[in-house]
Amino acid sequence: MFELNEAQKDIQDIVRQYAQEKVKPLAETIDKEARYPAENIEGLTEMGVMGINIPELYGGSEMDELTKCLVIIELAKVCASTAVIVDVHYLVSDIILSMGTDAQKAKYLPMAVEGKLGAFCLTEPGAGSDAGGLKTKAVKDGDDYIINGAKCFISNCGPHEGNHFVVIALTDPEKKTHGGMTAFLIDRDNPGLSIGKTEDKMGIRGSEVSELILTDCRVSSDAILGKVGDGFKIAMIGLDGGRIGIASQAVGIASGALEAAVKYAKEREQFGKPIAAKQGLQWYLADMATRLEAAKLLVYEAADLRERGEDVTTVAAMAKLYAGEAACYVTDLALQIHGGYGYMKDYAIERMYRDARITRIYEGTSEVQKMVISRNVINQY
Ligand SMILES: Cc1cc2nc3c(=O)[nH]c(=O)nc-3n(C[C@H](O)[C@H](O)[C@H](O)COP(=O)(O)OP(=O)(O)OC[C@H]3O[C@@H](n4cnc5c(N)ncnc54)[C@H](O)[C@@H]3O)c2cc1C
Repeated sequence: MFELNEAQKDIQDIVRQYAQEKVKPLAETIDKEARYPAENIEGLTEMGVMGINIPELYGGSEMDELTKCLVIIELAKVCASTAVIVDVHYLVSDIILSMGTDAQKAKYLPMAVEGKLGAFCLTEPGAGSDAGGLKTKAVKDGDDYIINGAKCFISNCGPHEGNHFVVIALTDPEKKTHGGMTAFLIDRDNPGLSIGKTEDKMGIRGSEVSELILTDCRVSSDAILGKVGDGFKIAMIGLDGGRIGIASQAVGIASGALEAAVKYAKEREQFGKPIAAKQGLQWYLADMATRLEAAKLLVYEAADLRERGEDVTTVAAMAKLYAGEAACYVTDLALQIHGGYGYMKDYAIERMYRDARITRIYEGTSEVQKMVISRNVINQY
């Protein structure tokens, strides 16, 4: 049984109020116009939310893993785009915190607190589920490295988003995932970096997702995170945290959809009564609420384990798998409860249904989570 402490409850209340009063009214426009929600990120920065995971030394408030999840859940209830922008930003700051040098921390963490967004760049056209297919290469040149390649589907990367980029590149192509990859922390103003096509997406339309092109991108050895060869390990550590974040996003979307479905079912009358009186729909609501609760508890457990420094890979994958599937299940039934009106853009459930779909794909598809979980299960017995 998880009970939030007073500090966690306070942040949850503050972010919930901000989300309901400021973020929710903008969500429809942001989706319609596929517009980066600058005002939300500015507001969250003023509240200190963008640096919630960063030590006070660098201007943050150093709160725990679960607090980050609570923030993402509250934002995703009303705007999944804003939630994922914050989630990816946390993921990148966490990587810098755990693997960065003192100089990297001193440079980038205060920027992160100020709302300058980080991006995590692993995926390439030929390397999605299989990171071993990476082609981006970093070649040593004196004290520097020269990086060439292209990343695709990168969140927090676009005309308005992305201040610093964690880029995973091959430094020893023979070794691939076994020590052949290195993580580099690169500034947006590096002349060798350019932003390519920004994707036109089905959902989370306020989050900019683009190609990142590296052309003779010269960085000094100071840009390396951890050691040469640590890149795959860093990517996997990042994904552990990122999966808990996306599971939180899924819980938030499902929670918003369940609330919308219940309200609608109480208002809408057919056959002389509110449709909430029909047992068929009550059973839908019971199933939705049960899956949502189970997903939330998995998120809480994963966050708690990570906070205590335990190996979280399997539970993070379980949380991501279950919460992503639950979000799609819940939004689908919530749309069904809205009937034909749910299919129209006048109702937020239409957007939530589209937004939920991505939670089964990014930070590793549901199938990939099953690979991770089953590997552990098979080794266990
Ligand atoms: C909106 C969005 C934002 C994203 N943001 C980022 C980001 O910020 N940074 C980043 O690096 N990446 C990002 N990604 C990339 C994302 O993580 C990948 O899309 C995802 O990992 C899947 O890779 P893929 O699209 O190449 O699919 P593929 O790997 O080609 O998979 C296609 C299908 O095959 C299945 N499959 C593949 N291998 C197996 C297997 N071994 N067993 C069973 N089934 C399998 C998959 O589950 C899927 O159903 C983003 C993607 C999207 C859509």
